[in-house]
Amino acid sequence: MSARFPEFRLGSVLATSFTATLTERRGEPVERIPTPQRLVDWLAVVGLDVESCTPAQLDLARELREAIHAAATATAVHEPLPAPAIRIINDRSLQGRASAVLTPEGTHRWYLGSPPRVEDALGVIAADAIGIVSGERDGRMALCASPTCQAAFFDTSRSRTRRWCEMNTCGNRQKKARFLANQRKQPAPAG
Ligand SMILES: [Zn+2]
Repeated sequence: MSARFPEFRLGSVLATSFTATLTERRGEPVERIPTPQRLVDWLAVVGLDVESCTPAQLDLARELREAIHAAATATAVHEPLPAPAIRIINDRSLQGRASAVLTPEGTHRWYLGSPPRVEDALGVIAADAIGIVSGERDGRMALCASPTCQAAFFDTSRSRTRRWCEMNTCGNRQKKARFLANQRKQPAPAG
């Protein structure tokens, strides 16, 4: 069933993995959570299992996603944060009921409300976004160097010189494009 949907792009940062459910924003956008069930699937992959999702909850999720994208982009280019984005991120954070819990194995888990709702999961994502946008976490917000992507990502590399949101996709495509451009510059073989 789910094979007909675009696959997820997961990074190590929750908030920007979430904004990466819409890719190629500056090209031909690819929506990776096109249905409520697909959002449920995505949340399960990142450890935020919810029971169900309505179309209205999917709208709420996408609104948060674009607010995080706007705030993260403004941070990356050192512009003031857009007020509507701040409001949406705070609303979602305030309305979630999740709690951090420690498992017997000593790992961190999110315990969502009972029953776990999409709003609880979005609260966790909003709090994660606040962590990276506020500069409280160690890293640098940057924009992907791919012109059709320009996704905001959180660079935690030691040198803070990461250029692409993801090496396997945008990074490789850019390298291939540069390679082909260089080849075209070579004179065509005589024949
Ligand atoms: Zn990218």
